[in-house]
Amino acid sequence: LSRLYGPLMALSNARVDVMSALVSFDRVFEVLDLAPMIDDAPDAVPIDPQAATVTFDNVWFSYPSAQEVSLASLEDVAVLDQTPTQDVLRGVDFTAQAGQMVALVGPSGAGKTTISQLVPRIYDVRSGAVRVGGQDVRSVTQQSLRNAIGVVSQDAHLFHDTIASNLRYAKPAATDAELWEALRAANIGDKIAELPDRLDTVVGDRGYRLSGGEKQRIAIARLLLKAPRIVILDEATAHLDSESERAVQEALAVALRGRTSLVIAHRLSTIRAADQVLVIDDGRIVESGTHEELLRRGRLYAELYRTQFAASETTGESGDVSRV
Ligand code: ADP
Ligand code: MG
Repeated sequence: LSRLYGPLMALSNARVDVMSALVSFDRVFEVLDLAPMIDDAPDAVPIDPQAATVTFDNVWFSYPSAQEVSLASLEDVAVLDQTPTQDVLRGVDFTAQAGQMVALVGPSGAGKTTISQLVPRIYDVRSGAVRVGGQDVRSVTQQSLRNAIGVVSQDAHLFHDTIASNLRYAKPAATDAELWEALRAANIGDKIAELPDRLDTVVGDRGYRLSGGEKQRIAIARLLLKAPRIVILDEATAHLDSESERAVQEALAVALRGRTSLVIAHRLSTIRAADQVLVIDDGRIVESGTHEELLRRGRLYAELYRTQFAASETTGESGDVSRV
């Protein structure tokens, strides 16, 4: 990122805005179907509504250089970046079967977030393929792909608007009864029912102050309304108080049930619950298996576990394997 930002900062403000809009895309994608940066193929078809498997087929990926990203908006980009970009993913190969939870763990910068962004096709692979329900994501319409995938990011973003409107971004036709059902399933119904304006409470930057854990549960309610077959979850690293933590965990367990999920996992409880744990290091899957299998193998995962988790097992606090 600094390679992009450094030279960009030297350019006009308008151009910096273009880039920051791109950088924050994934945060907004959580709730909005933005006009895609990538064009649909001329013969793109809607994705099969039952699609629930996620397959990475020998995926190699490097972030687009400044030239490629913004050819249309920046005219004299040639000055920006002449160096070739490095491969961030190098031959990533795995399948999440329908209904499975796949946990991604590994050191910071390993490529976990990048993997999660290729599923909704925020970027295209350099070689190999990402398939959802067996269909190459480049062959389906992005609108249908993004409808099939729910994303819950680390810091849930709420718009400065009412709770009802924030929820209806996920399902415009939802009745109030459906909103309440989703809020209750997400463990936040009681809290909202106690607010004077209930569903009409304005939240967001200048609105009613919800805690981090409460915002996450509203994001989970939004996910339940969207009801996608596939969920991408970046578990929060921010510390929540233990009550809020438990409420969020319970809500997530409900939200992930019966769905295929790709979870960037920071908690031991999540990793233990995963059907498959993929250990990512330097753009590759270096180990995979269940928590128990990986522990027995005694390699990178065991080391992450020892350095990050040993204490959390005994104290019951959430461990954090991804910040090493
Ligand atoms: P993780 O989520 O495992 O911490 P990331 O997928 O965020 O890792 O990053 C993998 C690599 O890609 C890192 O070297 C990171 O600096 C780089 N990277 C991440 N996002 C961008 C971007 N938008 N542009 C260029 N490089 C990026
Ligand atoms: Mg990350």
